[in-house]
Amino acid sequence: MTTNIMTIEHVSKSFGVRKSLLSSVRVPALDDVSLPLRRGRVLALVGESGSGKSTLARLLMRLDEPSAGAIRIEQGTNEVDIASVPLREYYRRVQMVFQDPYASINPRKRIWQIVTAAASNLGTHAQGDMRRVAEENLDAVGIGHQHLDAFPNALSGGQRQRVCIARALAAKPELLVLDEPLSSLDVSIQAQILNLLLELQRRLGLTYLFISHDLAVVRHIADDVAVMYAGRLVEYGTVEAVIDAPSHPYTRALVASALGGADGKRGARARGELQAATLDQLGCNFLPRCDQADAQCQGQRPSMRAFPDRRVACFRAKPSGNHDGAETCA
Ligand code: ADP
Ligand code: MG
Repeated sequence: MTTNIMTIEHVSKSFGVRKSLLSSVRVPALDDVSLPLRRGRVLALVGESGSGKSTLARLLMRLDEPSAGAIRIEQGTNEVDIASVPLREYYRRVQMVFQDPYASINPRKRIWQIVTAAASNLGTHAQGDMRRVAEENLDAVGIGHQHLDAFPNALSGGQRQRVCIARALAAKPELLVLDEPLSSLDVSIQAQILNLLLELQRRLGLTYLFISHDLAVVRHIADDVAVMYAGRLVEYGTVEAVIDAPSHPYTRALVASALGGADGKRGARARGELQAATLDQLGCNFLPRCDQADAQCQGQRPSMRAFPDRRVACFRAKPSGNHDGAETCA
């Protein structure tokens, strides 16, 4: 039985967006998302651009706060609201790797200073040990010591992302939040960084929240998958369940367009942008794009239904391979 290092409970987030000088509207980015992050596993968060993935990552990193709901972190045998944990203590346990290694590195610092920035701020090591800490963590990501005193502009994109990973690791975290860590890299480099991340996760027993829109990447690295559509979680389960036998019509469209599945219109992209209007509408927010919708889907919003291998927010969902299967566990 795996425990949860973190539990996301009914989290919603909306932003106030100014429409004109005198009026603004609340734009919902996340709507009632509940998810476990199981210790020692990789949870992939997938969904089209605008579906709320980065918003959730920012809440986990405490760069922003939920409008409703709570995020809880394991503390001994309990779970506590992350808002109650002092930031220094929190960032020793939870670190982040961003999409763009150019934007997330200070170009005026030397590599060893960049790698030890978090460790130094958090007081995880004595100040006199910092070069050694940099060496150890650069070793872990395959960057040679000859780069210790270099500036970032001497490194390639892939090397910089390795430096960002080393910086996160130097705090000795338990959980890494990775927001599209491969997206800004050359395709030829992506596989190397992906395999590095996988090797580190296994060797160090880390937990990852891995945000990606690339299902082939997700298939390779993730244990569990959460699919977001327009701010809502629509399907959650193991990779084998969700990617290999998707149940929600949106997941099926995603898988079909990514992998060219049997009923797939390859290349047809299902958009996940949340419209301000969607929260006001009564029924399922996937309705306008769904080919299975009926009267129930128009009148009622589907809540998460639990099947043995997944949770799905769809009235039409069936447990895979067993259409009469009982809805048993969460
Ligand atoms: P993703 O990472 O899945 O592409 P985001 O979480 O970045 O999606 O965005 C989700 C929605 O929230 C989008 O509609 C986006 O425009 C909106 N959003 C995100 N951050 C802000 C913000 N700071 N102010 C206003 N709207 C925001
Ligand atoms: Mg994003």
